[in-house]
Amino acid sequence: MPALSHTREGAQASRVNFETKGDVMEMAAAKNANTARQIADAHFDFASDFLGLSDSVKAFLKTPFRVVQVTLPITMDDGLLQLFAGYRIQHNDLHTPMMGGIRYHPAVDESELAALAETTSWKAALVRIPVGGAMGGVRCDPRFLSKGELRRITQKYIARIHRVLGPHEDIPAPDMNTSSEVMAWILQEYADRHGPNLACVTGKPGYLEGLMNPHEAASMGAAFVLSKHVNELGHSLKGMKVAVQGFGRLGSNLALMLSRQGCEIVAVSDIYWGIKSRGGAGISIADLIRHVEESGSVADFPEAETIDREEVLSSDSDILISAAMECTITEENARKIKARFVVEAANMPTCSGADEVLEENGITVLPDILVNAGSLIGAYLEWTRNQGAQNHGNPELETDKRLAAAYTEVMKRAVDKGLSLKKAAYTIALERMAAEEAKHNNWRSRAAWTGGGQ
Ligand code: NAD
Repeated sequence: MPALSHTREGAQASRVNFETKGDVMEMAAAKNANTARQIADAHFDFASDFLGLSDSVKAFLKTPFRVVQVTLPITMDDGLLQLFAGYRIQHNDLHTPMMGGIRYHPAVDESELAALAETTSWKAALVRIPVGGAMGGVRCDPRFLSKGELRRITQKYIARIHRVLGPHEDIPAPDMNTSSEVMAWILQEYADRHGPNLACVTGKPGYLEGLMNPHEAASMGAAFVLSKHVNELGHSLKGMKVAVQGFGRLGSNLALMLSRQGCEIVAVSDIYWGIKSRGGAGISIADLIRHVEESGSVADFPEAETIDREEVLSSDSDILISAAMECTITEENARKIKARFVVEAANMPTCSGADEVLEENGITVLPDILVNAGSLIGAYLEWTRNQGAQNHGNPELETDKRLAAAYTEVMKRAVDKGLSLKKAAYTIALERMAAEEAKHNNWRSRAAWTGGGQ
């Protein structure tokens, strides 16, 4: 089992050990880069066919509004120059501004980010946030970068893309491996060129008028939707057994919240290993978080048995939280899932073939565009407050209100049309986007008819 560490030296040392297993991060990167697009396409194709959208509307809704790719030459700590690829994809400007995360990860490429930007548009439409979807990132492996290198990458990235950002254009937020500190660096870089404006980025630290920590907002939202669904079925979360796939910022936070609500966390995985509780009591999440902070992995947690990460999926649980990244539930491992509910806390965690397997096995999937929309709602509330434009009151209550409304609509569509919750969610989102497109197209044609536009 590899000795892991969060330090740069530890990470590099552990890399040597990974060679015996193959570098799992790189393997995951290669796999995920191909699948995010396929997952997004499968949802889009189903929903657009269901709604009977014309080919031209389909093409309009699918094609990104703007794709920016930049090269970032960075002087590394050892004095050598290294080139990194950076991207910002803006999916749709039917509503402005556009909003979406920035991730630093080895799997980052145009195809993955375009799929995530598109999904952000559907998410916004589902929870009635009037923004377009965007997503950006830098292809790098933060495990092997110092803080100084990460800061220089961020500064160069914003120097290259700042012209397409802005408080009324496109507003970044944190995603995988980017923190509120990275958002503060972005704010500074943007301010150096355009003047100070807190509304140019969200997920900032509190002292910079940040409102809700995005992974906490996403976890709170996920716990809220899960609890609402379970209650709707006449049950309670108390005593339910939960397995967690992915123990990063989102997964660990959500596990903590659910354990506080009386759930028993029976198994947890990260990209390297899994653990399962040794009978009886569930895993203490607060202790596990400390263990991961010190060692870099869930492996070797003293109170649990270390197992292969995939075994966590087949553990004896009622609920599986999928909080890792795209396509971590595959057609193959979906067959092993014993839980009754899969909660898509991550974006697009279920590969397209796997959706059918889960449906056949009677497993309810609470869909990503509903479950993790809390962070997008939080970002929108932060942006409106930063502008002094509108105060929506208590952000947590406002988030719950919007999620509850969207949940009710999804349930109704699912029941009325005999669809899974995921299919229902995507058809609602796409229907709203198509209606918005029709409204804009109508204005465009009228302007052209009067000679005022095209
Ligand atoms: P993170 O990098 O902090 O955590 C990811 C975790 O998943 C890590 O523990 C990693 O080891 C694990 N992992 C990766 N592949 C795995 C696999 N195949 N099996 C098991 N574990 C695996 O990332 P995060 O910020 O927690 O984000 C996770 C997901 O949530 C992403 O899809 C992200 O887009 C989404 N999300 C994040 C935020 C946020 O603010 N951080 C908000 C909303 C949604």
